[in-house]
Amino acid sequence: MNELPRLYKRLGYEFKDESLVEEALSHRSVGNINYERLEYLGDSLLNFVIADVIHEKHPELNEGALSRLRASLVRGSTLAMIARELELGEFLRMGTGELRSGGFNRDSTLADLVESLIGATYRDADFFTARDLVLRLFAERLNNITPAEELKDPKTRLQELLQGRGLERPVYSVVKTEGKSHELAFTVNCQISAYDVNVSAVASSRRKAEQTAAAEILDQASVLLPQ
Ligand code: MN
Repeated sequence: MNELPRLYKRLGYEFKDESLVEEALSHRSVGNINYERLEYLGDSLLNFVIADVIHEKHPELNEGALSRLRASLVRGSTLAMIARELELGEFLRMGTGELRSGGFNRDSTLADLVESLIGATYRDADFFTARDLVLRLFAERLNNITPAEELKDPKTRLQELLQGRGLERPVYSVVKTEGKSHELAFTVNCQISAYDVNVSAVASSRRKAEQTAAAEILDQASVLLPQ
C-alpha cells in the first residue's frame, strides 16, 4: 500500500522522483540517507522566500522589524504547527527506538520535515514550484500578519508610548565617542523630561546606542514611566 499519493495531496505537489520524497521523509535514525541534506536546502529556501514575500508586502517595516517577523514565521514551533496541521508525522520514517520514544511527534523533527520537503520539492522541480509550496504552507499566516508591538523597534515603541500619553518625544544625544575610527563606542543619553528620566547606553553606532537606551527604559517602564 503506497501512502505517498496522500502526502502529495496534502502538499499540493506530486513528486516525479520518488527516491527524493523517501529521502525527505527519512529520519537520521533510519540510516545514512536521511532528510538532513534536504532540510539544509529547504531551510535556506524557506528563509529566502519568506524574506522576499514580507519585504514586498510590508514596505512600512524596516530591516530590524522584517528580520523579527521572518524569524517568527520560520521558527521551529511555527513549522511544527504547520506539520501537525498537515499531519506530516504519519509519513515519517524512523528507527524503531526513535519511534517508540515518540520521535515522530517531536517539534524539532516535525519542523525539519517541513524544511526537507521544501528542499525536496525544489530538487524535484524548480525554484518556483518550491516557492509555491512555501506560499501554500504559509498562506494563512502570511495573510494574518499584523506587525505586533514586539516587531517594532524599541525607539518607536517608546515614542508611541509617550505620544499615547500626550507627552513629548524622548531626546537622544551623544554624550561621548571613544576609540579608533573603525571601533568607535558611542555613549548616547536618552532623556524624557516629563518623567525626569536619564538613561545612557553604549554601542558601536549611534543608532544602536539609541535603541539600547530606549529598550532599557521600556524594560523598566513600570518604574521609570509610571502611569
Ligand atoms: Mn531544521
